[in-house]
Amino acid sequence: MQDIPIDKISFQGHQIEMLRLDLAYPEVQGNKHFKLKYNLEEAENQKQTTLLTFGGAFSNHLHAVATVGGLKGFKTIGVVRGEDDSNNPTYKYVRSKNMQLHFITRDDYRSLRSGNNLMQSLYEKYGPCYFLPEGGTNQLAIKGCQEVLPKNSNIYNTIFCSVGTGGTISGIISTPGLGAPVIGISPLRAGDQLTDTVKQLLGDLPQPEWQINTDYHFGGFAKLNFELMQFIRQFYSDYNILLDPIYTGKMMFGVFDLIKKNKISKDGPVLCVHTGGLQGWDGWHYRFPNVKPIA
Ligand SMILES: *Cc1c(COP(=O)(O)O)cnc(C)c1O
Repeated sequence: MQDIPIDKISFQGHQIEMLRLDLAYPEVQGNKHFKLKYNLEEAENQKQTTLLTFGGAFSNHLHAVATVGGLKGFKTIGVVRGEDDSNNPTYKYVRSKNMQLHFITRDDYRSLRSGNNLMQSLYEKYGPCYFLPEGGTNQLAIKGCQEVLPKNSNIYNTIFCSVGTGGTISGIISTPGLGAPVIGISPLRAGDQLTDTVKQLLGDLPQPEWQINTDYHFGGFAKLNFELMQFIRQFYSDYNILLDPIYTGKMMFGVFDLIKKNKISKDGPVLCVHTGGLQGWDGWHYRFPNVKPIA
């Protein structure tokens, strides 16, 4: 297993360590490396040659699946809600890695979750595939994310992580032997549901104290917010660490705000997991051409 770099920074007298999954696994987009690891093994064991998955228009997960598919010789199919757009930078990238995109309506996408015959029609069209759920979260992804933390993680006062579908934080929480508390920061407006989702994903796995904080969604998933952009810009200029606009920017804003409000004691350093996602900037500048690039 490769050592993941840690950057030590400080804010208002608090020691903060940043676990740089973005540096360790830049092309596969940080945490997605861990989520895919055992799924790829399983696909190989099953002798599958095609990975089929689901995602949104600027999805880090699609980007990751296209990347590993190219590296490991899988054919990849991405089922995307919405319409094709030949200028979308994420579509351009995944196509450059030979991912085949299959567009479906938002209604079809929603009913996917309630199990309609879309899966059947995908199967008829593409043949046998290894299915990865949206965001790649399943039990094998959780197993992979149990390998994210450094060995001595009980020295930390609190461990912070951003949450999307909940797979990454579930793996972190269920790291064998972990006693340090974990706080997930939700980038979603409907973040309350995430607590139940993570509870379900964890089941009976041993777990330290944990919670999902829903105070830092900035209006909802992937919404443009001036204050958040200012924060990410300032963070980069102060610490030379680039955060992404969807997940880790909100997480670090939350950590700094909790420190300012005296909600975190100085008893030991805090660990913040930089889950990566920096490819998201390309889509961000495509959607918001007036936002000045940060790095
Ligand atoms: C996908 C992603 C997440 C969310 O991971 P989940 O396992 O879906 O909760 C967090 N941060 C970044 C940068 C991501 O790309």
